[in-house]
Amino acid sequence: MSKIKKIGVLTSGGDAPGMNAAIRAVTRAGINNGFEVYGIRMGYQGMIEGDIFKMESQDVSGIIQKGGTFLQTARSIEFYELEGRKKAYEQLHKFGIGAVVVIGGDGSFTGANYMTQESDISVIGIPGTIDNDLFGTDYTIGYDTALNTVTDAVDKIRDTASSHNRIFFVEVMGREAGFVAINSGIACGAEVIMVPRKRNQVDKVRLFLKERAAKNRSSIIIVSEGLEEGGAMDIANIIKPEFPHFDIRVSILGHIQRGGSPSNKDRVVASIMGIAAVEAIMDSQKNIMIGWKNEQVAHVPLNKTIKMHKDVSDDLLKVAEEIGTFVPRK
Ligand code: ATP
Repeated sequence: MSKIKKIGVLTSGGDAPGMNAAIRAVTRAGINNGFEVYGIRMGYQGMIEGDIFKMESQDVSGIIQKGGTFLQTARSIEFYELEGRKKAYEQLHKFGIGAVVVIGGDGSFTGANYMTQESDISVIGIPGTIDNDLFGTDYTIGYDTALNTVTDAVDKIRDTASSHNRIFFVEVMGREAGFVAINSGIACGAEVIMVPRKRNQVDKVRLFLKERAAKNRSSIIIVSEGLEEGGAMDIANIIKPEFPHFDIRVSILGHIQRGGSPSNKDRVVASIMGIAAVEAIMDSQKNIMIGWKNEQVAHVPLNKTIKMHKDVSDDLLKVAEEIGTFVPRK
């Protein structure tokens, strides 16, 4: 049984729908199991500044359906330096907090990993990012909602693209991984999906569009962020001069992908992960991420999640191709 009596919880990096459900679950499971639970505002920056408050069960009432994070989040420059992190450890000691649940992406876990090496604080990570780009988990909180948002937006763009015979380049988030692009592209029946880490894609897309343009057909091209050849705007600008008779448009979906009420899946998985994080602390576990593998909780060493990459599987790329989408990858 753990000697820890006080647990801190924070959200860090980019916000993601479902983070509130995870905070709520950590808070309630923590209190139900005899811990005091402390909210840390503004991620690592709040930890450095001591922006920490004791939470009661009712503090997390009415937040499960809300996007964003009620603890707020920040990108803390100070936390990159040992000097800044030492201030954070001092604050945690002052409050008597022995374990911190960090909800965030790979940057946040890199910071969390330093915490485990440099202090006596137990750290449990919960993957919270719309990009789904963390190694060791099939799923990250916010990803499902983001996919639904993108699918909805692209469906709407499709209506206007086909009415006007336009070629639309739609840029989606996803960092260097491409999960948002491939899954939303499949769901929307995109004509082309461009995912990161594939070479010379623009030339291949140009040839593909030439064939379609000859038949005067509209196209939706999903462009993941993180491509070597640039974003949707860059790619459209390269291609445009060769299609003088086509109306080529660019839509960068941007931050709408982060917002909105979390989907059922994001709320439920976040709740399961939050409870699992508290159980891990009770079992004296530390330095792990609560992952989600084959629809079950998995415990993954934190340092593995940041050292290894997770790529879109070839199987998924093949699914897209089999149903008629061009994926410029070979
Ligand atoms: P998302 O995937 O949504 O962007 P993230 O967790 O990867 O989320 P980052 O901005 O990369 O977001 O990281 C969040 C915070 O984690 C940073 O602002 C910083 O405080 C801390 N952090 C990131 N990388 C490091 C590092 N190398 N050393 C120490 N702290 C770090």
